[in-house]
Amino acid sequence: MEPEHAPEFSDRQARATILAAESLGFEREPDLYPAHYNHDLHEDAQYAAEYLRKRDPARLEAALASDESILAQCAAWRITETGRFTLADADIVLRAATARGFQRPPSDLPLLAHAIHWDQARAAVAYFWEQDPEQLEALIGETARLAPLPDTARSTEHGCRGHVDSCRCGR
Ligand SMILES: [Zn+2]
Repeated sequence: MEPEHAPEFSDRQARATILAAESLGFEREPDLYPAHYNHDLHEDAQYAAEYLRKRDPARLEAALASDESILAQCAAWRITETGRFTLADADIVLRAATARGFQRPPSDLPLLAHAIHWDQARAAVAYFWEQDPEQLEALIGETARLAPLPDTARSTEHGCRGHVDSCRCGR
């Protein structure tokens, strides 16, 4: 099978592989928008894996087995603020999460109904990111795909409000 039709790694593994290679000096193309890095996640991961195989194969093995590098809170903000995530996506994710027992977080803010709905959808995305990322991709496709961003990535209008220090998303 052609590698581009069948990603060798899961998204989590692709992210970890890129980060491990970058810690040894591997570089992706600089100065692109976040969406570009997200789209190229698996292609970049193949180059990163090749880079690691040549220099430190044990590091590749460790990366493939490592935990998710982007924390759920941050991932949920990035996914829902891309502009690709639509109201239809919000409905799909919320319905699917609720069917699995996800509790919609109560809102004590005087928000408009649609803002509350969006907040709840963001929480549902975070839920799937943590519990079942494959299912999230099945629900909303490539919109669920995130790359860790290099320092050189262009910034976008919407800051990620879910980012914390232990998250390795690059922002
Ligand atoms: Zn983050």
